[in-house]
Amino acid sequence: MRPRIAIVNSATFGAYTGAFERLSALGEVERLSLPRELKGRELATRLSGFQIIVASTNPKYDEEFFRSNKDVVLLARNGIGLDNIDLKAATENGVIVTRVPGEVEREAVAELAVALMLDALRSVSAACLAVRDGKWRERGRFIGLELKGKTVGIIGLGNIGGRVAEILTAGFQARVIAYDPYVTVDEAERLCVKLTDLETLLRESDIISLHAPLTDQTYHIINSKAISIMKDKVILVNTARGGLVDTNALLEALESGKLLYAALDVIEGDYVGPEHPLLRHENIVITPHIGAYTYESFKGIDECVVESIEAVVKGMRPKNVANIEVFERRVRALA
Ligand code: NAD
Repeated sequence: MRPRIAIVNSATFGAYTGAFERLSALGEVERLSLPRELKGRELATRLSGFQIIVASTNPKYDEEFFRSNKDVVLLARNGIGLDNIDLKAATENGVIVTRVPGEVEREAVAELAVALMLDALRSVSAACLAVRDGKWRERGRFIGLELKGKTVGIIGLGNIGGRVAEILTAGFQARVIAYDPYVTVDEAERLCVKLTDLETLLRESDIISLHAPLTDQTYHIINSKAISIMKDKVILVNTARGGLVDTNALLEALESGKLLYAALDVIEGDYVGPEHPLLRHENIVITPHIGAYTYESFKGIDECVVESIEAVVKGMRPKNVANIEVFERRVRALA
């Protein structure tokens, strides 16, 4: 049986590698662009008849989707985060979910986090815009701060957070502290990082960089209470997920000057149009969720997704299954 494969809401998957052609050898492949807010039964109907879905960060594959769609066998996430996939519901409904292993995107996201940090410290993009605007002589507006010796607080010292810590300590000689309830003191010490509780991190950091997954515990971890604990004039960097930061609290803190700068690759709703209130502020830099957008990372992502799909189509176990429990049961259906 040649499966039908849907690449949903990803313009980048296969665009820079031979992944699309490799998938076409395995099944009938279609690229679909669906409204990002589509979910549940409606999403299930739009994707009926597809056995394999290459899933981006949107739309949301919720419990109702998995209950209503009886065709999907494999949902291959072309990225790390699984926060738009109800993994429990996928498992209960026998759908295999694969993801890209952390190391594939580690460098790309960690380097962007550091780039955003430096942009906030040195106004790189703002200064460039001024030059384009014929304002070279206004360079006095762009007096910045140095990273060396600053205290950087990392929330989530995992795959990406750990690499950011390495770059900051070894390269920039910054002091790095971290809050991560699941990392041991020994693991942190290996990275030259001091583990703290969240309140201490908020109180001591000059720069706060977010690298935790979006969960019930981390949703709005940066809210007005957290911001009130911070020093004045902190730089906030978010390359993790938009939901970690309460946008209204962020807006207030930029308005009042409590925060010096926000440097964001992700934002609640995962979209910023030209009218977004955050863009009224000068002390903000926003990139459109391009953390993993490097050729090296795309090569790795495409390879992992194709490998997962090839394995499932051949009745074998893919390497990066997020819900191993369902595998045995469902692969037989395609083999
Ligand atoms: P990871 O799982 O390796 O690391 C996450 C760390 O967060 C872990 O060490 C975990 O213990 C910690 N953590 C969990 N709950 C926490 C909590 N309540 N408070 C503090 N720490 C907590 O994941 P990763 O690969 O390092 O990815 C980190 C984040 O980056 C995720 O949110 C992921 O979705 C995001 N990401 C963004 C992009 C992008 O394009 N911007 C690309 C890839 C990943």
